Amino acid sequence: MAGYHLNFTCFKCNEKSLSIKVCENETNSYIVKNHDMDGVLQVVCPKCNEIIIVINQCLQFEIYLQCAIERFLTADYAEAVFLLVKSRETFVEFIIDLLCYEREKEVNLKQNELYSSERRYGFFAGLYFARFNEVINFSKLDFKIRNRIIHNGVYPKKQEVIEFGDNVVQFFYQVIEKIKSEIPTDVYIGYVYSIKQGKIDTYKQTFEDKKVQIQTVSDVIDFFTRNIDGIENFEKLCSIIEQNNRMLAAHSIDLEASNRTRRQ
Ligand SMILES: [Zn+2]
Repeated sequence: MAGYHLNFTCFKCNEKSLSIKVCENETNSYIVKNHDMDGVLQVVCPKCNEIIIVINQCLQFEIYLQCAIERFLTADYAEAVFLLVKSRETFVEFIIDLLCYEREKEVNLKQNELYSSERRYGFFAGLYFARFNEVINFSKLDFKIRNRIIHNGVYPKKQEVIEFGDNVVQFFYQVIEKIKSEIPTDVYIGYVYSIKQGKIDTYKQTFEDKKVQIQTVSDVIDFFTRNIDGIENFEKLCSIIEQNNRMLAAHSIDLEASNRTRRQ
């Protein structure tokens, strides 16, 4: 099952341990695997039993990419490919929304029967041409890899996934570069933030009257707002996630592992 590692700290326990000065090894930070593709995790602090809502601010395509990388790191190459395909599709959807937002229009892909993969890419290519006066070249995008796995039962090799992953990531950079050079910063950054903030606001409203902590986690993968020197390839992104997971594990308690031990 697709998922990725997320960590959270219980503010309540943290405050308490600061006030009573418990031993230095005391940690109120936990790592847990999140399977929710919206990037929201509801957990219960094992010490104080308070409910904590952890919101991953990454955009949907970034969450899918992160999940794909986690699958790749555990050598589940077929699932990694499916998630990469999903990431690319949600990216295209996001860019459609962004380009429509700039024109002060809203398009509902589902209602307009534009949701199927081919139509979505077609609509995207049309919008891209209309906005940038340039025909987007899809020739480098591999549209068949998913079908080769599902219909022909071909299990992808590690190197194939790396190449496909690069292919997907390069496509993201190519489109984002175009956006950054042609669309005013306040417009595209404004839109990215409105999506991220919208997600937080929704959960804040949902849990308004309940006694819960709401936390947001910093973005590991961030294509729009992080300054990147040059282009990062798929393997580089994999090593970022791997390092991040290792760092989280070193400073946090693995909540699932500790729950398993408790049940035994
Ligand atoms: Zn707590």
